[in-house]
Amino acid sequence: MTESGWRITLADVVIGDEERQAVDEVLRSGWLSMGPRTEEFERALGAALGTPNVLAVANGTAALHLAAAALELGPGDEVIVPALTFVASAAGIRATGASVVLGDSLSLDDFALDPTEIDRLAGPATRAVVILHYGGYPADVDALLAAAERHGLLVIEDAAHALGATVDGRACGALGDAGTFSFFPNKNMTTGEGGAVVFADEQAAERGRRLRSHEMTTLTWDRHRGHASSYDVLGLGFNYRIDEIRAALGTVQLGRLPQLNETRGALSERYRKRLAASERVAVPSQGGRGRSAYHLATLVADSPELRDELREALRAERIQTSVHYPAISTFTAYAGSRAHVPRAEEIAARSLTLPLHPNLRFEDVDLVCDVVLRATGEA
Ligand SMILES: *Cc1c(COP(=O)(O)O)cnc(C)c1O
Repeated sequence: MTESGWRITLADVVIGDEERQAVDEVLRSGWLSMGPRTEEFERALGAALGTPNVLAVANGTAALHLAAAALELGPGDEVIVPALTFVASAAGIRATGASVVLGDSLSLDDFALDPTEIDRLAGPATRAVVILHYGGYPADVDALLAAAERHGLLVIEDAAHALGATVDGRACGALGDAGTFSFFPNKNMTTGEGGAVVFADEQAAERGRRLRSHEMTTLTWDRHRGHASSYDVLGLGFNYRIDEIRAALGTVQLGRLPQLNETRGALSERYRKRLAASERVAVPSQGGRGRSAYHLATLVADSPELRDELREALRAERIQTSVHYPAISTFTAYAGSRAHVPRAEEIAARSLTLPLHPNLRFEDVDLVCDVVLRATGEA
């Protein structure tokens, strides 16, 4: 906030004395690479998600690649991916050699993947579907899981927006065969760079653990403790490890998460109330399913031109906005993905992401809304 020149930033982090102390303890311990604090962070995440097979990793993109690799996706396989997500949801899949087929959103009021897209797009080579809980709002999970099951597809949840979101009391990210999280600083909790992947199946988790660390059969930490003296290498692996500094940060941030998400929820409601009177912008309901993690505050303008005007009016007041996301179908690198995703492309042209983070005050939300309503001619 202080270093940016923006009056109101899109995102911000909450870092306190507990984080500083946790990092200091790691530095004093002298053990910085993956070890006991990582195990502690993984246990805490597992408790929060209600699932035992959790791997903390280097970032959310590594988590997606690791999920796809541990589920044994590869060349010749096709995976259905929403067109309206961060490109990493698709890139993590493509990194295995599998190809991506883009699916459309439900509507301008509900950006998540349309479950009927699975029926439209699934063919003999289709092996999996990626789902995104857009902005932290649970996707239509029951219909998506049912469609995946009809076609015998694995389900990978990109839950980068959705840590703390639930459907019928079940944690988003722990509903499919694998779920991935990001702890990048603009997410609901942060470790700097960082991520996690969870697996429903213990064997997939074991493959993921080996792939995270070069497919070696023992870890540096085991060898340090004298539990192992050598190792074998079973295949082509990666270095996707997190470290103790980030893991210690993660455990503290996870403890803060319920409060951080509650604040995001109250601010999101404020946006919804203040903009409800407008006839030219709408705050999408995103389906209203389960409990949201309130990652993004989004509006939809009545035209692409108005969206661009709003963006400019807010920028002139030094209020930072963004667009989540340009549809993946419009990227050069995905020109071959034979996509027909008109709703996702319209959302990308008409939506705007407004500032949302736990350091925002109600007055800040009111100011953003005042600028929006002045620009629409409604205030
Ligand atoms: C942030 C994000 C990622 C990537 O996470 P990194 O930690 O930045 O690699 C993937 N998917 C979605 C939807 C995200 O928002």
